[in-house]
Amino acid sequence: MRSALRPMPEELERFLSEGKGRGLRARRNFHVGDLIFTCPAYTHVLTVNERGNHCEYCFARKEGLAKCGRCKLAFYCNISCQKTDWPMHKLECASMCKFGQNWNPSETVRLTARILVQQKLQTEITPSEELLSLNEFESNLDQLDNEKRELIESDIAALHHFYSKHFDFPDRDTLVQLFAKVNCNGFTIEDEELSHLGSAIFPSVALMNHSCCPNVIVTYKGTCAEVRAVKEINAGEEIFTSYIDLLYPTEDRQDRLKDSYFFICDCRECATKAKDEEKLEIRKHGEIPKPHDIKDMIKYSRNAIEEFRRANELLEVCELSLDKMGAVFDDNNVYVLHMMYQAMGVCLYMQDWEGALRYGQKIVRPYSKHYPPYSLNVASMWLKLGRLDMGLENHSAGRRSLRKALAIMEVVHGKEHPYVAEIKKELEGK
Ligand SMILES: [Zn+2]
Ligand SMILES: [Zn+2]
Ligand SMILES: [Zn+2]
Repeated sequence: MRSALRPMPEELERFLSEGKGRGLRARRNFHVGDLIFTCPAYTHVLTVNERGNHCEYCFARKEGLAKCGRCKLAFYCNISCQKTDWPMHKLECASMCKFGQNWNPSETVRLTARILVQQKLQTEITPSEELLSLNEFESNLDQLDNEKRELIESDIAALHHFYSKHFDFPDRDTLVQLFAKVNCNGFTIEDEELSHLGSAIFPSVALMNHSCCPNVIVTYKGTCAEVRAVKEINAGEEIFTSYIDLLYPTEDRQDRLKDSYFFICDCRECATKAKDEEKLEIRKHGEIPKPHDIKDMIKYSRNAIEEFRRANELLEVCELSLDKMGAVFDDNNVYVLHMMYQAMGVCLYMQDWEGALRYGQKIVRPYSKHYPPYSLNVASMWLKLGRLDMGLENHSAGRRSLRKALAIMEVVHGKEHPYVAEIKKELEGK
């Protein structure tokens, strides 16, 4: 008997989908809610922010997980999860200890390191690859623009920097190709509130083509992907999932698909644009906006969204230049401080309070040396640190920083300034 995990060949088949390359087709009827197939992760990685909430190996969410005794950063259900995860965790365990706060490879780098190990461990086709194997992934290398190539280069640099101890790395071209494949075929695992839990490779799931009116949805149980019908599917029909957030109107979806997956969608939704008008609904009370105002506002909105999306990449740019400068400059160097300040700003913008705090703590002492004794820059840095610490319930550290800020501000703003009164209140309050 076949494992329940495996796709059934008599129910599903790989085929050449017109204009789309290979795809997946149903060989029998499926009803809404039917589990069509499941796919265990080829390899996976828990996102850094969820450490302690989920088991590093099986992604179970529970209280009282046990810590890795060496790095104290990975958490597990029990010895069995920890032991099974060791071939992957050992890539990071010692490295995290060595680099401390400077250990910051992107999730793509972490996932790709695991793929390289998995490729060595697994010489046969894995249960994750029954419909499509990792080697068959498309890289779309010829479609990459300079920005994407640079990102891959920086990922490769980070891979060498943080993982060098454990690898005979493949040559550069092989790595570029692998990263490009991961970018097009990797999955992010999310919880029931769509919070990001981690990244994974599900080769068989990656066989499905995209449609903006998909007939299946992929969900996750632990580190296993499950594919269920959300429409009636007849034998002979292609099975489509959606690669993107379907909230947005056609033009936005098409841009996103082209940018990330290099194709133009020709689904019914894209052809008819049936929902676009509702998705871009214009307010009906007061003065009716004119067509060119609507056009301008769509443009503005899309830019605003894009700007926010890029905030993530900004941090990578900061970190990359910090890495580079670190080869020559000390942490107290003003050029390094400038980049750390930018990185802290991005963290604040993204509400990554711990990240912002880490940068701020590195900045504030050299700042105090470089600036004159009474400086708004130094005061504001102490103030940011103080408020971050208070917000994170580190009250004694928070108070210390707030008092440093106050000492400067009582001089530069005057003792009667409302800012000063506010800080005093914060000091008394908590
Ligand atoms: Zn576990
Ligand atoms: Zn460890
Ligand atoms: Zn479409």
